[in-house]
Amino acid sequence: MKIGFIGLGHMGTGMACNLVKAGHEVTVYNRSPEKATPLVEQGARATSEITDACAGELVITMLADDHAVESVVLGASGVVASLGNNAVHASMSTVSVALSERLAAAHATAGQRYVAAPVFGRPEAAAAGKLFIVAAGADQAIDACLPAFAALGQKTFRIGDRPEAANLVKLSGNFLIAAMIESLGEALALVSKGGIDRRVYLDLLTSTLFTAPVYKNYGGMIAEGKFEPAGFAAPLGQKDIRLTLAAAEALRVAMRLASLLRDRFLTLLAQGGENLDWSAIARLAAKDSGQG
Ligand code: NAP
Repeated sequence: MKIGFIGLGHMGTGMACNLVKAGHEVTVYNRSPEKATPLVEQGARATSEITDACAGELVITMLADDHAVESVVLGASGVVASLGNNAVHASMSTVSVALSERLAAAHATAGQRYVAAPVFGRPEAAAAGKLFIVAAGADQAIDACLPAFAALGQKTFRIGDRPEAANLVKLSGNFLIAAMIESLGEALALVSKGGIDRRVYLDLLTSTLFTAPVYKNYGGMIAEGKFEPAGFAAPLGQKDIRLTLAAAEALRVAMRLASLLRDRFLTLLAQGGENLDWSAIARLAAKDSGQG
């Protein structure tokens, strides 16, 4: 397939690389152009114009946040202004429900197809082609993305024809992960202050009641206090809780735990956690208890 890929950050670099490895003809664009060099060495074509990345049947965006997606997709010479008739834009970033609705409308008006396809999985999963993709949009538009999704993920879940539904599912999932990080941080603060070895405790938990990979992976980071380098940076985690609360407000759903997490992220950022992994909110409970 002829595919444009926009956004070569922690996630996008591995994803674009997998598209190249799968034999697709890939044109990459990144705001900071030097990040395209490793991709070019793998066989991608680099461009300094968003328009060039929109010349194929599919363009994928994997950008930081709403602001980045808005400027790349809706800006002058952006994706909507450049994409061909009937071509597909798959938006894989974690963005707001409201922006996804706007993108759907803008693409429909321009005669283009739009799929929201945010992902679960950290940069290691992206590099290994093992993401879980949550896709929503018209069936035929999702079908058109499948050859690319096959190279990016281990499974694609279809959750309906309203693109913004995929964004809501993604945000709710990240809310659950953040809640797990907070609760695990509190439990670890408790047992370690009680003189119990954090590693031993974590091994017990993750081999009995809490065997899911999120407990194992984040638990290891929290037990070791290793929050750098950030795989998923704290400001992006804060963004996801903010977007969860915005969706909750629009739907009139009170989410007390999400409100608590919002404050945890603000505290982490206020205390200089900008470059830490989002799981560093777990260390706040230890600090509150006079440890760490
Ligand atoms: P990242 O490493 O911070 O990369 C962000 C990308 O967005 C970079 O390519 C950056 O370009 C670009 N960008 C930022 N602001 C821009 C702007 N105003 N205009 C144009 N480009 C802009 O983020 P990431 O970890 O790859 O995450 C990307 C998306 O995936 C986010 O929505 C995140 O929430 C989601 N996600 C992340 C993970 C994870 O574990 N990391 C997992 C699942 C989903 P520059 O290189 O020029 O800065």
